[in-house]
Amino acid sequence: MKITGVEPFILHVPVTRSKIEDSTHSVTYWGAPGVILDTDAGIRGYGYTGTHAYLPLDRLITDCISKTYGPLLIGEDPLEVQHLWRKLYHFPPAQWVGRSGITHLALSAVDIALWDIKAKAAGMPLWKLLGGNASKKVAAYNTDGGWLNWTVEQLVADARQMVEEQGYRGVKIKVGSPDPGEDLVRVEAVRRAIGPRPRLMVDANGRWDLTTAINTGRHLRDYDVYWLEEPLWYDDLAGHARLARSIETPIALGEQLYMRDSFRDFIQAGAVHFVQADAVRLAGITEWWQVADLALAHHLPVAPHIGDMMQVHLHLTIAHPACSLLEYIPWLRGCFEEPATVEEGFFTVPQQPGAGTTFKPSALEKYGVA
Ligand SMILES: [Mg+2]
Repeated sequence: MKITGVEPFILHVPVTRSKIEDSTHSVTYWGAPGVILDTDAGIRGYGYTGTHAYLPLDRLITDCISKTYGPLLIGEDPLEVQHLWRKLYHFPPAQWVGRSGITHLALSAVDIALWDIKAKAAGMPLWKLLGGNASKKVAAYNTDGGWLNWTVEQLVADARQMVEEQGYRGVKIKVGSPDPGEDLVRVEAVRRAIGPRPRLMVDANGRWDLTTAINTGRHLRDYDVYWLEEPLWYDDLAGHARLARSIETPIALGEQLYMRDSFRDFIQAGAVHFVQADAVRLAGITEWWQVADLALAHHLPVAPHIGDMMQVHLHLTIAHPACSLLEYIPWLRGCFEEPATVEEGFFTVPQQPGAGTTFKPSALEKYGVA
């Protein structure tokens, strides 16, 4: 099989709740810059990454895909994914300007499209190609009701509805308010609303300094918080290692780490308990799997961050033995041929061949931006 076409696209899709905020970000649209790879076998591979739908930067990602990686891909066999990943990752001009950032996000989209082709060519969903089994239960926790711009009343109403009516196995709420005491009031209110059993996670999105994280974080055990996510600046390895030794609540991070090297260092330093590798921030499925194996070798759970809005990570979570829990955010739900779906708190198993990334033509039409 040969790659015959490299067709980039950019989608900007409105988030479900008009505007969401955490301690660091304010988002009204989710961006999916990506690529369709055509082949001489007629199979089309779809891959994309996740952004804040900021067009000037999304264009840099798709330019990197079409102008830098495209010429390296045309004529190659898309089934040789590991070979192609290395070819693109080690392409000296790209390596020179960025082993993370835009080149990395662009490579993630390409890599995912290659795996999509490989699974379609094999006639099976990606989770099966990667060796998974359909009996694996993937529990879903919901993040789309825990935003920092929600009032306590909204927060409580959403959490209760998600757990009691929709059956989610947990909820995640954002912290990192100007007043950390307010954060604890919100955590307490949600824990009281959902009762003792469902998981409750909190996410500071990198906002706190170490002192705030220690002082606030030590109270989280009172509410049986399952993990504290991104408490400190994303690259502060020493700070996270110190925090992990200072509070009882486990630390989750990884959504802003681009490289397996970073995960290795955080894991070796004892700075992370839940590894939140994201295949659209790492260089695709290929590097994600390397990180998941690394976590497994250290007996750490992998709970993927979902910049792809679950489509790929559902397959990976079914297939990889370090995974059992997956985040749910429905922002791209209407866009796919087979959207990731939760029933009674667990994800249903995708059946269509591929990586779950095939967009509906109507979605490409409706949300595509030039
Ligand atoms: Mg997060």
